[in-house]
Amino acid sequence: MRPGQIRLKDVEAPKLLFPTDALVKVTLTSICGTDLHPYRGQLPGFSAGTIMGHEFTGVVVAVGDAVAKHKVGQRVVASDLIACGTCWYCRRSLSYHCSSVSLFGYGQVVGSYTPGGQSELVRVPFADTTLFSIPDTVSDEEALFVGDILSTGYACIHKASLVEGDTVAVVGGGPVGLMAAMCARLLRPANVYVVEPNPKRQLVAREIGAIPLSPDEVEPLFESTHRRGADTVVEAVGSQEAFQLALRLVRPAGTVVCAGAHHSRAMPFDLEDAFARELSLRFVVGNPLAYGKQLLQLIEQGSLKPAKIITHRLPLAQVEQAYRLFAAQEALKVVLTP
Ligand SMILES: [Zn+2]
Ligand SMILES: [Zn+2]
Repeated sequence: MRPGQIRLKDVEAPKLLFPTDALVKVTLTSICGTDLHPYRGQLPGFSAGTIMGHEFTGVVVAVGDAVAKHKVGQRVVASDLIACGTCWYCRRSLSYHCSSVSLFGYGQVVGSYTPGGQSELVRVPFADTTLFSIPDTVSDEEALFVGDILSTGYACIHKASLVEGDTVAVVGGGPVGLMAAMCARLLRPANVYVVEPNPKRQLVAREIGAIPLSPDEVEPLFESTHRRGADTVVEAVGSQEAFQLALRLVRPAGTVVCAGAHHSRAMPFDLEDAFARELSLRFVVGNPLAYGKQLLQLIEQGSLKPAKIITHRLPLAQVEQAYRLFAAQEALKVVLTP
């Protein structure tokens, strides 16, 4: 990856560098919405030559001496986030704030550069923390999103303190928004609305049991809540418009959870209104290290079927086309096989 350009290239095979490392042969990888920021050249300073990819499953092919939980031959899914697992933040499941934090395949945007999973072989630091074993009955496709988007969606619902019978609105029916909607359904809410203009995405929202709404036709949400608005709104876009819409949809004393990646430094925000309505505002980057094990269990039980959002399956050799399809929103989620 160079800002604005993705290419397939032969590189030197990674090696174990530390006793806590593992080497994983990638079986499946995907493109995340986060990958589109550098792809569109929206992250100036993103290191050219970055090996992208922070969602991948694979098979362990080598482990360092200090790796205790994983063995050669084991099927695993990696957390997108790499953290030490032992520091003050890690012990409190706040791994994104670990001083050793890094993100696979994302240049030096988060911590130091760690080559990512849109490749054949990956070095996985802190393997005991970063990797989760995939249960035998769970396919790689179902396990793949545990490493990022499913955990992010789950974290949104967890942080919103959602209870049974609540009404949830998700602004943005992209992969993270749909995962949040899917996770919200676990708690038996009254309704889960997905506010999304793209008809293809609306269709998938319906398939996972949510009610799609156009951003300019949100009236049914108010009708179904005696005009109160949603108890919880998940904002899964990362734009000012989406954030403003979320504030409009939430009921007094409700919660807005922002999972969309925000990059603006300032924006209009009606503080008086937020104060008068006693709104709660939370931010979620994602936390696979905290939720990975639990999510794999929910998938194993059949309570979550995240692979439903996959619309395209391509060989890694067609990575350029895959990025094009995803960036143009022709693909909702692309998985790539090396
Ligand atoms: Zn991501
Ligand atoms: Zn740590």
